[in-house]
Parts: sequence; C-alpha cells; structure tokens
Amino acid sequence: MPRIHISGFPRIGAQRELKFALESFWQGATPAAALENSAADLRARHWEQQQRAGLDFLCAGDFAFYDQMLDHCLLFGALPARFGFDAAQITLAEQFALARGNAAQPAMEMTKWFDTNYHYLVPELTADTHFALHPERLFAQIDAAAATGQPVKPTLIGPLTFLWLAKSVTPGFDRLAHLPALRTQYQMLLQELARRGVEWVQIDEPALALDLPPDWLAAFAQCHTALAACGPKILLASYFDSVAAHAEWLCRLPVHGHHIDLARAPEQLTIWQAHLPAHAVLSAGVIDGRNIWRHDLRATLAVLAPLHAALGERLWLAPSCSLQHVPVSLAAETSMDGEIRGWLAFASEKLDELRILARALDEGSEAVRSELDAASAALAKRRASYRVLNAVVRRRVAALTEVSARRHSPFAARQAVQSQALQLPALPTTSIGSFPQTPEIRQARAAHKRGEISALDYLQQMRAEVADAVARQEALGLDVLVHGEAERNDMVEFFGERLWGYVFSANGWVQSYGSRCVKPPIIYGDIHRPEAMTVEMTRYAQSLTRRHMKGMLTGPVTMLQWSFVRDDQPREKTALQLALAIRDEVAELEKAGIRIIQIDEPAFREGLPLKRAEQAAYLDWAARAFRISASPVSDATQIHTHMCYSEFNDILPAIAAMDADVITIETSRSRMELLDAFGEFDYPNEIGPGVYDIHSPRVPSVEEMLVLLERAAAVIPAERLWVNPDCGLKTRGWPETELALCNMVEAARQMRVRL
Ligand code: GLN
Ligand code: ZN
Repeated sequence: MPRIHISGFPRIGAQRELKFALESFWQGATPAAALENSAADLRARHWEQQQRAGLDFLCAGDFAFYDQMLDHCLLFGALPARFGFDAAQITLAEQFALARGNAAQPAMEMTKWFDTNYHYLVPELTADTHFALHPERLFAQIDAAAATGQPVKPTLIGPLTFLWLAKSVTPGFDRLAHLPALRTQYQMLLQELARRGVEWVQIDEPALALDLPPDWLAAFAQCHTALAACGPKILLASYFDSVAAHAEWLCRLPVHGHHIDLARAPEQLTIWQAHLPAHAVLSAGVIDGRNIWRHDLRATLAVLAPLHAALGERLWLAPSCSLQHVPVSLAAETSMDGEIRGWLAFASEKLDELRILARALDEGSEAVRSELDAASAALAKRRASYRVLNAVVRRRVAALTEVSARRHSPFAARQAVQSQALQLPALPTTSIGSFPQTPEIRQARAAHKRGEISALDYLQQMRAEVADAVARQEALGLDVLVHGEAERNDMVEFFGERLWGYVFSANGWVQSYGSRCVKPPIIYGDIHRPEAMTVEMTRYAQSLTRRHMKGMLTGPVTMLQWSFVRDDQPREKTALQLALAIRDEVAELEKAGIRIIQIDEPAFREGLPLKRAEQAAYLDWAARAFRISASPVSDATQIHTHMCYSEFNDILPAIAAMDADVITIETSRSRMELLDAFGEFDYPNEIGPGVYDIHSPRVPSVEEMLVLLERAAAVIPAERLWVNPDCGLKTRGWPETELALCNMVEAARQMRVRL
C-alpha cells in the first residue's frame, strides 16, 4: 500500500486551544507548566488523530508555541543578538519576548510565509551569528510521538529555505556565507536522529519554488548531498509551486525521496517521473493543503494508478503542503448549509481522503467504492448547482470591455473637475476608515448575533456610534470624514455576508501568526450582490454633516485574497465577479450623493505569484479588477484606495494602472522613505502618505508630523498630497485617537502656511 503522510497538522487546535493557553500565560493567569500541558495535550490529540486516520508516520517538528521559524532559530541557537538571550537556557517568557518584543527591544520582524496568509518571524543573522544545536525540545516531541508505537517522521525547515528567509543585519554580509556552519549543525542533528531510530526525516525546501540566484542553487545541491549521508533517509520536499525547472538535478541528489506539490502544479509530474532515479520515493502531494475543497478522488486515481504501477512501494501520498493553512475539522460546522458543507474537506477530512486514495490503489477501487461514489456525487452536485452557477453574473462578466475598466477621462482632467466640485483645502485631512471598535460596539454585535437584541436595536446603536464619530471628526476639523465602520466586524466578512456565493464557517480557524487566527470566508459560487450593502449607513452618515463623507468599501483583490477561493475557475474570474458587485455598490453610493469613495486594497500585493514570470499577468488582471470596481462613476466623483505594507517598488506600475484618484499608504514607520519610490517613479495621482503609526497608542506631536510632511512635500508636489494616519483606527481607543488626530489637523494647518 502506498504510504501516506503529512508534513504538518494545524497546531492551533480545533477550538483554538493553543491560542487561549498562550494568551492566558501571557496575561500571567496561568504558569508555564499549564501552557506546556495544554500543548502536550494538543500534540497527543493530533497524533491520535493521525494514527486513527491510518497515516504511516506520525508527524513531529510541526508544533511551535508561536512560530515554526522561531523554533528553528531556537533549534540552531540563531537568536537575534540584540536581546542578549542564551539559547541554551532560554525560558518560555524569553521566547515570547523574541516574538512579541519586551521593554528593551522591539519584536523580531514578521512577514508572510511565501504566498500564504501565515506570518513567520524573520531570523536575524549577523556576520558572527554562531549556530549551536539545541534539539532537546524537538527530541522530547519525537519521543512522545514514538511512545505511541508508530514510526515518526520529523519535518525540518531546510537550511537553504531558512537562510533565504532570514535577513542579514550586518550591512553587506551575505547570509549564504553561513551555510557551511549551519550545515554542520544539521548534520549533527540528523546523525542524532538516526541514533534515536528515526528512519525518515522530511526536509522542507519550499524556497525551491522561488526564482533563486545561481549561487544559491549551487549551494543547495552541495548541502543536500552532504545531509543525505548523515544516516536517516531524507525526503526532500518542495511546495507552493512547481520545481520542474530543477527536477533533473534534484533527482541526481543522493536523497531517498522527493515530495512535490501536485495540487498547485500537477503538470510537473511528467518531468519528475522522467528523472526519478530507480531507488527514490516520490511523494505525490495531491491533496490541496491550501484550500478546503473536497477532492476529486476518481480524477486523481486516474493519474495515480499508472504511477503506482510504475513505482509500486516507492509512491507515497500526501497533502501538497503542511495542513496548518486549513482549519482542523468539518465536525464543528454543525450550522453550515448542508449542501455546501458536503463540498468541503478540512484537515481531518483530508486525512481520510489520503487513506481512501491509498486503499484504492492497493486493493482496487471496488474496495472503497462507496467512498469514491460519495466524493464523485458531491462533486457532480457542486458542478451543477444553481447556487454555484449564476447565468446573470456570467453574462455580465462576459460582456466586460476595456471601457468597463476605464474612467471617462484621464486623471489630469478628473483632478480639475474634482477640485472644482469638492472645494477641499490644500493638504486635505482624512482618516482611513475605521474608528475605535469599543467594547460596547463588540458587545452589541455579539448580543445581536446571539439573538439577544433585535436587528433594529442593533442598527440604532450603530447609528448612534456613527453620529458620535461624525461629531468628533467635525470637532477635530477633519476635511473628509468617514462613518467609522462601527457596524463592520471585519472588512471582508462584512461584505461577504451580504454577497451571494460566500459561505462562512463557525470554527474554520487558521493561524495567522502567534495566537492570532483568522476565519477566512469561503467563496463557493458566482458572486452576486442582491442589494446595496453600505448605501443606507453612508447616506445616514452624510446626512449628519456638510463636509464630504467618504464611502468605504473593500476591493475585489482583497476580498479574493482573504477568502478561500473556488478551485473550479481561475482566481482572475472570481476577481472580476467581485469587481462587478463592488462596482454596483460604487454606482449606488454615487447616486446617493456620496462624492468620495474609498475602495481598500490592503491585500493587493499579497496576491503576487511566487515566480517572477507570472507576476506581470497577475498585476495586470488585479489592477483591471480594481478599475472595473472603480469606474462606473463620473469624473467628479473621487475614488480613493488604501494599502498598508512596505514594499511598493516592484509594483508601482500596477498601482499607477489602478488609476485611483487618491491612494493612502503606510509610510510613517519608514519615516517617509517609502514615498521616494513614488517620487522616482513619477507617480501621477494624489497620495496620502501616513503621518503616524496607528499600531501603538503613542500620540505623535505636531512637530513630528510636520517633519514627515516636509519630507513628503520634498518628494511629491504639495498639490497632490493628503494628510492622514497610516491605517484604520479600529484597534485604538478614543482618547489617543482624538489627541493624535487633533495634532494631525494642526500639523496640516501649519504646513499649509509654509507652502
Ligand atoms: N478601511 C479599513 C480600516 O480603516 C482599512 C483596513 C486595512 O487597511 N487593513 O479599518
Ligand atoms: Zn491599512
């Protein structure tokens, strides 16, 4: 029977047990021992589940209190020197200080794990980082797993991926220079694992799916040749995209097996089959570890059957990548629409799918006929369901033309019309959308959800919040107001709940970073907007003031990026459907008298494909989807967008192609340095570079913001500058929000005099 295995299980727990244990420890409510116990319980439960599912190996090395990269730094003693911690005797509290910062040091930097929504802590290396193995914790986990009597296959992040994702904080130091020293530690680790009776070790090198420079690729082959000689059999794993370009030389490495992602890149199978040496295992990552759809088992069996005939025991089956990117189990989704639930598979269900595939190959399809039939029936239903296919939506998408994606006039002409129509001062002040989500707001929403307060009472309370936010902004003297988003739980969920084609899980939590989890909505069908989503509330907010009220929407790319998306049509097509829904909302807001509309796209950059060759096509359709959502309005209506991240350089042409009249961005933490790229690129439209960081309660002074405004005005002509914070204020309290905005308005006033 083909062996079945995984490279990681969601460690956060079906009910987010790890999150609650962590937060309780951080608050000082429980001792370290309690946290250790909860973690051990979770691991034991997850192994039990793997055992029950018939996996041939239990997975170890996939657990981390906060982050797997942080644990890897601990494993190899590569801690950021600035904390002054001793890796040999580091306490739990110190580990969390690395992740979350302490009084003396800011936290390690955090960034996205490849193209997922998981964030890892970026290892900080200096020229004299000294690597020293501290494997006790990993060994303890392997021993605990082995105590079940099952074989254990630890997963390790590979040395090249580790170094590639790390950053060098010594200027000019090439982190690849650390490879020999790091390799020595991996060798010691592998030798020790062999001594402990571990037969197979999986080494994950997802960096292989990126465009690596030649010196890295050369180092790769050398390093893994050395590691393969250490004792345990090595399963070298890649995922998140094709590594077909490297298949030939990878197959010449003396490793014992290769794992490849056949969910994301099924086409790479042919080349791998052609080059796979006669001794090596091929682990076929057929089950999608990144999405939640029930698998088309029969279609995959048709591909696997000849492969199984050719490879026999050397064929293994697995999810494409770690299951940490999907929720734990459908068992908790008792209130989800039954038909749609039948189309899904979370981590636990994916384990079942693996076993069914393996049995079908081993004993023949007849042995698992009812399981295969059930999967086929669910798929057939999904394909034909009127809830998935909406003829009206499809006709509209097909009818889109270049004109649908273009404003009436070019920016220069619009700017003249808008400046007449809007009559704003130079350096207009505004905010990004949300105001503090106070405990009262959250409690009202929870009570409404539980059915304890009526829809009308809830609406009235939210209107009162909006009125309060408007009054405060008027008192502060802001030029363009927002309604404050009190009625929105989350910027994607709020819209998803109002669109057809979206479904929400009750417990579909996925770890985002540390103890933070998200519950991505699921797009299962054609997106249709049955009625206006924000018009009533925005109209109400506008009725309270004579200043301009900014309509506030989430853009199509962000709606797409922060959801589980359909696998039965390209992402691009789903983006167009979302764009049409938002376009209708934009048109109705304009009709309701709203003159300024912001369409947020904070996830625009996240959608970038890993491979450079595919990025241009993405940027093209993503910018077009945005333009479609933004273009039904007259020249006089001003479209804003908002993005908050630090890398714009490589996507500036696409940002310009979005053609928003105004873009607000996060710039305060880089002290306006980010703006230089916009200046050099000659970005043509208006820009609001954030003048203060909203991530901290600290209130910046007028002078501080003036310094930033001076810098901004040196790069972008003042007639194209706006004044605003970095991002929304929903995580802040009112006291610091009002003080900071008051200073911001004053800074703008003083800056206008200097112009
Ligand atoms: N309008 C949103 C807010 O202010 C934007 C959030 C974001 O950029 N992530 O909260
Ligand atoms: Zn933002």
